[in-house]
Amino acid sequence: MLKVENLFVKYGLIEAIHDVSFHVEQGEIVSLIGANGAGKTSILRTISGLVRPSGGSITFEGKAIEKEAPQKIVMQGLSQVPEGRHVFAGLTVQENLEMGAFLRNDSELKQDYEAVYRRFPVLKERKKQDSATLSGGEQQMLAMGRALMSRPKLLLLDEPSMGLAPIFIREIFSIIEEIKAQGTTVLLIEQNANMALSIADRGYVLETGKIVLEGTGQELLTSESVKKAYLGG
Ligand code: ATP
Repeated sequence: MLKVENLFVKYGLIEAIHDVSFHVEQGEIVSLIGANGAGKTSILRTISGLVRPSGGSITFEGKAIEKEAPQKIVMQGLSQVPEGRHVFAGLTVQENLEMGAFLRNDSELKQDYEAVYRRFPVLKERKKQDSATLSGGEQQMLAMGRALMSRPKLLLLDEPSMGLAPIFIREIFSIIEEIKAQGTTVLLIEQNANMALSIADRGYVLETGKIVLEGTGQELLTSESVKKAYLGG
């Protein structure tokens, strides 16, 4: 479904991503793990069209997207939940969801709002509330609901657990599994390696801009080097 081949990303003279290749197949959860600054966000932003690669290719459902505009990429079925959620403060929960649907103009919008509110009942309770008043976990749910409103085939999640209490982290990860069960493919970027690999079909380990290890979620969870570097021994 998504194929990243020999990707290079540079910021001026700094090379953030060096010759990275990986793929995501339909129906999978694929986790990309790595320490702070390893380059995870750069990869996601490059896939979304927000950063241009200095080399390599990105294909989504057989079509090259590395030169496409971000909104065209969303329209092809790829949607990103950014690190730090970035809900639109000053807009209500409902209005934030509407922003996620701004490229749509079809007859199934109403049922999709209802589906998001069924999946996240707390958002329904707070439908008319300013999104800035939500807790961190609720904002993460809103950011995910907003992304789902574009009906993505592939959902890109950037550190959904960041800054959340353990109870919210468990809830968010179980929602990610539900999203997969309902047919949306997921590329998940996380520093929380344990949770991210537990729900992943496959995973990749990124270190200073390079992929150093890959395997099934289970293989990586039990790998000695992953245990030592990312799972506290
Ligand atoms: P984090 O968990 O902090 O988000 P990350 O693994 O997502 O880290 P990136 O944010 O992709 O890593 O950063 C990779 C490298 O690129 C880092 O060295 C970072 O300082 C650098 N970098 C990222 N964005 C920029 C930018 N806009 N300009 C210059 N350097 C950048």
